[in-house]
Amino acid sequence: MTASSHQGLLLKIENVSKNYGPVKALRSISLDVPAGSRTAVVGPSGSGKTTLLRIIAGFERPDEGSIMLSGDYLARGASVVPAHKRGIGIVSQDGALFPHLSIAQNIAFGFERGAPDRDRRVLELLEMVELDPSMLSRRPHELSGGQQQRVALARALGRKPRLMLLDEPFSALDTGLRENMRKAVSRVLQAAGITAILVTHDQTEALSFADQVAVLREGRLIQAGSPQVLYLKPCDRETALFLGDAVLLPAIVRNGIADCALGRVAVDTTRQGKVEIMLRPEQIRVRTDRSTPGYAGHVVDVEFGGSVCTVAVALQGVALPPILIKTSSVALPSPGDQVQLDIAGKAHVFEGR
Ligand code: ADP
Ligand code: MG
Repeated sequence: MTASSHQGLLLKIENVSKNYGPVKALRSISLDVPAGSRTAVVGPSGSGKTTLLRIIAGFERPDEGSIMLSGDYLARGASVVPAHKRGIGIVSQDGALFPHLSIAQNIAFGFERGAPDRDRRVLELLEMVELDPSMLSRRPHELSGGQQQRVALARALGRKPRLMLLDEPFSALDTGLRENMRKAVSRVLQAAGITAILVTHDQTEALSFADQVAVLREGRLIQAGSPQVLYLKPCDRETALFLGDAVLLPAIVRNGIADCALGRVAVDTTRQGKVEIMLRPEQIRVRTDRSTPGYAGHVVDVEFGGSVCTVAVALQGVALPPILIKTSSVALPSPGDQVQLDIAGKAHVFEGR
């Protein structure tokens, strides 16, 4: 979804802080969530992701700051709108279905009392999350983990939320299922026009799910932006490494060109002097033909990984550890081979915050 399809702001988080005794779980977080968008909140364990979602949902109150939904304050100072009046859906890591209720009863749990078209709505929701109607009479323990998560999503959708909060809903699933679930959930939310915030500690999941990625560390919002910006222009090396593999090299920059162990590389900065540059491994191509010049090195290790293989190259004439380059399994070099390296695009220079 592009920025132009957003109809303004849905959620505005301003300077929100939360302490648990001596633990500073959130430190002055500000974040805007456009209507119709998908935001991924990422960060290491304990960085405050769940706390942020619980404050948005209304299960916790912020010590400082405010939360605004569609222009109305949900939390500001002592005044707090209770969770059930916020129109916000939440799906937690374990789905938290009621074990003693059938799937149909679980899904209908969020409906208003005595809803007349209950059965039809349950079926509709079941179809939205791509589950078979034969499951309606079952209990949660008779479903797989992925199916249970879909039921939890259907239950949350049944309340017709304006905003859906997903707290690591796929983390218990294995890789293939996880990807399918993520795509299914994306489709459902988009079709229903529901704005979503997904918490995950999986950077691939974040980058592929979101229009906006927000990085939390030790309760601080380190950086927020599009997946492309976060991946290619992270503000510091920790963020760079959190979002993927990176080749980091000391360099001297002059007029947009960095002098480094790879020779002269174009950089995306106007800064001058000593910096650290970052390249994503896929920006570096390994060549075994030496007909045209490139940066010279020799292969010290090859890790075969199927579609993505890792080649470790020791650069000629510099005392740096070998750099790790991702390449396809086609024409994979062997340890000991002399290779040339080509660089695509510009190297990134951390600008700090
Ligand atoms: P994440 O979801 O990113 O793993 P959390 O938001 O769960 O992080 O936790 C952030 C910090 O706040 C952690 O240090 C955690 O131990 C602490 N914390 C979270 N909830 C509570 C609570 N109810 N009581 C005390 N400390 C808490
Ligand atoms: Mg958490």
